[in-house]
Amino acid sequence: MDRRDVLTNAFVDELGSHTRSQNNFIQAVRHVARDVLTIEKNDPALSNAKVLHRLAEPDRILSFRVTWESDTGGVNINRGWRVQTSNVIGPYKGGLRFHPTVSVDILKFLGFEQCFKNALTGLPLGGAKGGSDFDPRGRTEREIMRFCQAFMRELAPHIGPDRDVPAGDINVGPREIGYMFGAWRKFAGQYDGALTGKGLSYGGSQMRVEATGYSLVYFIQAMLEQNGRDLAGKRVAISGKGNVATHAALKAQEAGAKVITLSDTSGTLYAADGMSRDLICWVQQRKDAGEDISAPKEKGASFESNAVPWSFEPEIALPCATQNELTQIMAKDLVDSGTEIVAEGANMPLTDDALEVLNASDVVHAPGKAANAGGVAVSGLEMSQNSYRRSMSAQEVDNALVGLMKEIHARVAEEGTQDGRIDYARGANIAGYRRLAQAIQAQGVL
Ligand code: NDP
Repeated sequence: MDRRDVLTNAFVDELGSHTRSQNNFIQAVRHVARDVLTIEKNDPALSNAKVLHRLAEPDRILSFRVTWESDTGGVNINRGWRVQTSNVIGPYKGGLRFHPTVSVDILKFLGFEQCFKNALTGLPLGGAKGGSDFDPRGRTEREIMRFCQAFMRELAPHIGPDRDVPAGDINVGPREIGYMFGAWRKFAGQYDGALTGKGLSYGGSQMRVEATGYSLVYFIQAMLEQNGRDLAGKRVAISGKGNVATHAALKAQEAGAKVITLSDTSGTLYAADGMSRDLICWVQQRKDAGEDISAPKEKGASFESNAVPWSFEPEIALPCATQNELTQIMAKDLVDSGTEIVAEGANMPLTDDALEVLNASDVVHAPGKAANAGGVAVSGLEMSQNSYRRSMSAQEVDNALVGLMKEIHARVAEEGTQDGRIDYARGANIAGYRRLAQAIQAQGVL
């Protein structure tokens, strides 16, 4: 065991018994701890300030009951949470997820990741995450509206444009943000940018919907440019069929790549010669309508039940669905078939043993906290637009996004370059840590 592992194990042991069963949170903390604890231990000012300890213990975890009525008049009860991890560099900022698997463990991991991601953007954004174990599947439009309103009734006292600014995540898109913003406006009795991802007619930013998926592609383009290469003609496999996956697919297709897969929990849509824009838009429409993608009418595309995208020999793999979706055996498939880049659109989509397989190979791995940071970056631009009471054009936002992703790439490359090779995960962890550490030290012991 090397020094990094010894320090990491000791750090995790000190986290306290309340974290013991929080496997996703501990997994996320370990990734960062391995890269930054040697820096912290070698600098007495940082170790005395206990920087990583302070980031690994959220400022607070709000937990509340959400009571709402179904169409038939039945009373339903869900749990809601907001994990406010750190506001040391800006107001708490991070998405809301509605999914039966949502738990304190999942939200603590996402809030922790969010702190480092937001620090990497260079914008004044703290880290948070929230959501509920509510399952929107099979629910009617009006039930979803009532749930969103009931959720916001509980969350409203804790958010605000300079306090905590939630956005979307899994199963929380423009529709849910619209319902929650309407409820916020009524409960708070004021009109401001307390949520991002809003519709364009009421304070949203151009390009927010597209930003996460597009930014993933901009980040890969920056990676390829390092070696004078580009995306044209590359076989790109993408998992998921949601916001991040389909916008990454559209941007990659536009850049001349062959998008060979999209997927959901029942299987993979495969197109050997690459998907057309029409086919990707069809997937978006089906997802929005709550319908499956198992019957594509386009020639050359087929749906393979229970298959995963990683068995189709991509040159570039973009996991864009959920945490721990890409396992060791799938990583081996990618390495064996000559995949060059794995870049994360989802947050922490690789299991630890999948990561080990990639790290032992020539595959270049870009972590989500760098590669998908464009979503929150455009949320940051939405907050500025709301404060200034102005709106930027789509072109302005897109130009800003391209610039931000290049800057993030440069920050990560600067910290992560060793022996002429960029370790993107290490670079992202260290660059994010340094900014957070400076702010924590400057603001004293609180
Ligand atoms: P969406 O709700 O829009 O879509 C998620 C999709 O992923 C669903 O269609 C779901 O399929 C599918 N999915 C879930 N698990 C699997 C799996 N194991 N294999 C294949 N497909 C699966 O979510 P988003 O696109 O918003 O989020 C996706 C990821 O990106 C999450 O990790 C999120 O945290 C991250 N992210 C999102 C940002 C955003 O701006 N939205 C910002 C940064 C990160 P099914 O329909 O079958 O359930």
